[in-house]
Amino acid sequence: MGEIIYSFVIPVYNEEAVIPLLLRRLERLLAKVDGPAEVIFVDDGSSDSSPVFLANLARENDRYCYLRLARNFGHQIAITAGLEAARGQAVIIMDADLQDPPETVLAMIAKWREGYEVVYAQRISRAAESPLKRATAHLFYRLINRLAAIDIPHDVGDFRLVDRAAVDAFLQLPETNRYVRGMFAWIGFRQASVPYEREARAAGVSKYPLRKMLSLAASAIISFSDAPLRLAIWAGAIVSAGSLTYGIYVLLRALFWTDGLVDGWASTIVVISLLCGVNMLLTGVVGLYVGRIHAEVKRRPLYVVSRKIGFEAEETAGKR
Ligand code: UDP
Ligand code: MG
Repeated sequence: MGEIIYSFVIPVYNEEAVIPLLLRRLERLLAKVDGPAEVIFVDDGSSDSSPVFLANLARENDRYCYLRLARNFGHQIAITAGLEAARGQAVIIMDADLQDPPETVLAMIAKWREGYEVVYAQRISRAAESPLKRATAHLFYRLINRLAAIDIPHDVGDFRLVDRAAVDAFLQLPETNRYVRGMFAWIGFRQASVPYEREARAAGVSKYPLRKMLSLAASAIISFSDAPLRLAIWAGAIVSAGSLTYGIYVLLRALFWTDGLVDGWASTIVVISLLCGVNMLLTGVVGLYVGRIHAEVKRRPLYVVSRKIGFEAEETAGKR
């Protein structure tokens, strides 16, 4: 294959139900793009039949590549692995479930041709998603924007086109806790958006249970904001001021109105348990950050590759 212009990076985790539909839509898109393209499927440790299907496809068709991670490392790491493997001048990150309509890519390419280096797709509606998902997403985007020091665009997922220069810059960021869309906001470059309607998943069920969503949200906040730590100081200050005031009152009462000093069992219990609770909560907040530091200092590779089909060079472990 000559020089590749477009690399599609598609993380796949147990997506056997959508792969046939995805391939059909992709083929139609690939016929329309104005240059040689490759499609990299990053198999994030699937346990269904997706691996068999995708490995065969990569063997038969040299436009498709298959990269298997040794276990389920998670969506954000899978994207990173795909970006590391991509060879194109422009890399398009896309979900496998067709919630990111492939046709939008043509509009992104047009923006890229105008000179934008990061073209992200912005949801103008997510009508197809559940009210719970919409509400939590809305809340989350507002929260992260208040907390983070950089502007992370609203209602923007990982669906985007990224120029080679921006991909290389992104890959310089070594962190283990990856919130990909925040990292792209952080690197800068000329950024533009393309509107799109978020469709319903074409088949299968979401691979983002609440647990993974919360962990992504925590990653985002912890990686891009130290506001929770500052909150700990404020909470500490307020609670201390309250305690001091109450302490002075108790002292004065002991000195001047000795009557009735023995009652107060209720207030003692309330104050002690409240302070213990606040204390543990804030220790937990600090612990979250310490945990992240721990993960970073181990300096493990971000992921382990167990199989590669359709790439020239064979490698087994991800670089940092
Ligand atoms: N995915 C992944 N690893 C995971 C979870 C999800 O690679 O641990 C992939 C999944 O196959 C899909 C994309 O990430 O291509 C988005 O996942 P999903 O559509 O389930 O998330 P949702 O749209 O429900 O937030
Ligand atoms: Mg989805």
